[in-house]
Amino acid sequence: MAGEEIISQCKQALEKKRMELREKLAGCSSLSGLRGFEDGSGYNIAQVKSNNREMDLKLLREVEDALESIAVGTFNGRCRKCGQWMWDRLSACPEAKYCIVCKNEETRKNQNCLIQSRAVARSSVHSVAHLSLSG
Ligand SMILES: [Zn+2]
Repeated sequence: MAGEEIISQCKQALEKKRMELREKLAGCSSLSGLRGFEDGSGYNIAQVKSNNREMDLKLLREVEDALESIAVGTFNGRCRKCGQWMWDRLSACPEAKYCIVCKNEETRKNQNCLIQSRAVARSSVHSVAHLSLSG
């Protein structure tokens, strides 16, 4: 497989992604203007927006990291943890540092709380469905 070609494709995808993220983040910079709504539902909207902003900033850092490693020549399309090739994964997610197996492992470690809250949400959906059936 032509590794250099794939790396240059990743680089293009990463540069595009970086530009989109920067534009998006620039558009969110008026967030402080929402502070006046803290007593109502506007507060929740501001919270959601700031959560998304944090995720976008994190993603932007990952994208810039990957571009940096392409620039210095350390980008080789291998998982940084187990060293496995991950060209397939890079075509969908060019900023990826880990293969899907290692990534899942990390995510599982970090998201135990999230999984628990999802389980709670699912059980409440079930009880609502049960109510509408019996009613
Ligand atoms: Zn791996």
